[in-house]
Amino acid sequence: MVEYLISGETAYVPEDGLTAGQLFATHEGLTYNDFLMLPGFIDFSAESVDMSSALTRNLKLQTPFVSSPMDTVTESDMAISLALMGGIGIIHHNNTPEMQAEEVHKVKKYKQGFIRDPVCMGPDNTLKDLMDMKKSYGFSGIPITATGRLGGKLVGIITSRDVDFLSSDARDRPLGDLMTPRDELVVAQHGCTLEEANHILQTSKKGKLPIVNENDELVALIARTDLKKSRTFPLASKDSMNQLLVGAAIGTFEDDKKRLDELQKAGVDVVVLDSSQGNSVFQIDLIKHIKTKYPNLQIIGGNVVTAQQAKNLIDAGVDGLRVGMGSGSICITQEVLAVGRPQGTAVYKVSEYARRFGVPVIADGGIQSVGHIVKGLAIGASTVMMGSLLAGTTEAPGQYYFQDGVRLKKYRGMGSLHAMEKEGSKNRYFSNNDEKVKVAQGVSGAVVDKGSVLQFIPYLISGVKHSCQDIGAKSLTSLRSMMYSGELRFEKRTNSAITEGGVHGLHSFEKRLF
Ligand code: IMP
Repeated sequence: MVEYLISGETAYVPEDGLTAGQLFATHEGLTYNDFLMLPGFIDFSAESVDMSSALTRNLKLQTPFVSSPMDTVTESDMAISLALMGGIGIIHHNNTPEMQAEEVHKVKKYKQGFIRDPVCMGPDNTLKDLMDMKKSYGFSGIPITATGRLGGKLVGIITSRDVDFLSSDARDRPLGDLMTPRDELVVAQHGCTLEEANHILQTSKKGKLPIVNENDELVALIARTDLKKSRTFPLASKDSMNQLLVGAAIGTFEDDKKRLDELQKAGVDVVVLDSSQGNSVFQIDLIKHIKTKYPNLQIIGGNVVTAQQAKNLIDAGVDGLRVGMGSGSICITQEVLAVGRPQGTAVYKVSEYARRFGVPVIADGGIQSVGHIVKGLAIGASTVMMGSLLAGTTEAPGQYYFQDGVRLKKYRGMGSLHAMEKEGSKNRYFSNNDEKVKVAQGVSGAVVDKGSVLQFIPYLISGVKHSCQDIGAKSLTSLRSMMYSGELRFEKRTNSAITEGGVHGLHSFEKRLF
């Protein structure tokens, strides 16, 4: 009971709504649409809400957004943009280990600041080699070393200025003849700080700054464009080397251990063990294998939807849990296999158990709006994983196409027949490419163009901040603690409440969100 005075008398405000514990005590599973949060007290601006949140025991993000490891959602473009916006992308594994590792590598190499593994060429490489290289990497300045590799003696740099006006018959000319030679280059010495390097770049007005050791061997490179980006992305998710954070998914088969080795070499920060039902001896064995071989690598286990499933993975040593079974927009698991759980209940039950061990939870699947994101976070998740919401963005793999005048991109479940026909998807759904009968757990479809992640994520950030303000939570951490203390109140929604909460009674309307 809260006490306050009216006309000199003591009055009582009766308790209202339900605690999360009471809401989820029901034996019916609840979806995000089945409940709402009641408003709290506002004494701060929406802008000031702290969105930082843990992805795993050791990785913290400035914004709680994670992209799904799906072949129509996350490759390096998505992972780079999401990391720049403070989230993280999980590279899918519906490809060869080498291709997946290369995507990881691109994210790590993209990094603002020092590029520790720049693409290099040798003086005997030709202009044609350079053009081929540019097609794959899009770099505009490539260091030329005596060996053609990082660690070789720096002999020059080739930039677009050196080659732009050459005719096509110059294709076979060696880069050694075309490059800007070493004695005309401005370089910095190994050990200089990013600020010093930045200063040299600014005064020299060069685009690339090679970093060399005392033997004049190339050890890193700094790009002016990357430095500029680091100033405009203050929330960017970075490691201690100032490289963007990236995750990658693997299956739980024996050959996934080799894939893991490739990813580790490429610099992956976190691996997601990608099983639709993660509570298996295969996953537990793999967690133990990874913890022994790469003790510093963060592991997200899953998917789980019950505390019992979570217990086994936490006992095995996971650093984070991915929660959801059957809630994904493209998912038909509940329909076909009759196994799964409504996502609200799944997130609450698993988070409530996992928090005792300091293991953060990702609410994975079924996120269709800002409201769903906040609900996932308000019932215990630390981050949300999105597939369909990001699949229509510029950074998602695949080309846009028009259908009935609408600009679309393909989006498909990793357990759809289309996806399972490629190598990799077998791992998530425990089937095997040699199996005669495949049981699809997902569909293929399309989603509407959403523009760039760089515009879409700021909308999500702003939406979540405004929601937290209405609730009276100054941070995502306090949102969760308000929920566990019972201060945050919930209410179940009837079908008519859901109708009332949507647009209704209009002849027509336009729904533009940002
Ligand atoms: P969405 O954000 O609602 O589109 O859901 C994305 C999530 O659905 C992914 O992160 C996966 O957990 C899950 N998922 C991906 N592919 C499939 C599938 O084929 N069947 C079932 N679930 C899937």
